[in-house]
Amino acid sequence: MRLRVDPVKCQGYAICTEVAARHFTLDDWGFAQALVVDVDEGDVPAVTEAVRECPVRAIRWIDGPATGGPAPRPAPPAV
Ligand code: SF4
Repeated sequence: MRLRVDPVKCQGYAICTEVAARHFTLDDWGFAQALVVDVDEGDVPAVTEAVRECPVRAIRWIDGPATGGPAPRPAPPAV
């Protein structure tokens, strides 16, 4: 499964680097970078916790498990 850090949303709280230290680091400006983009199945729980704990929702799975964020809006009624 693949993950991505949104460099615009990231505010450098560094929670991800504490929760999943092998997968995230901070760059010279203090913003997160993903060290591993393709996450092994065994590491998914730690990275999922980082996704959930990021206060600004800057980390997301590209093709992985749900982030625990708000439920998607229902589809509008058919006309
Ligand atoms: S927890 Fe979120 S805001 Fe904080 S450094 Fe990581 S990605 Fe950036």
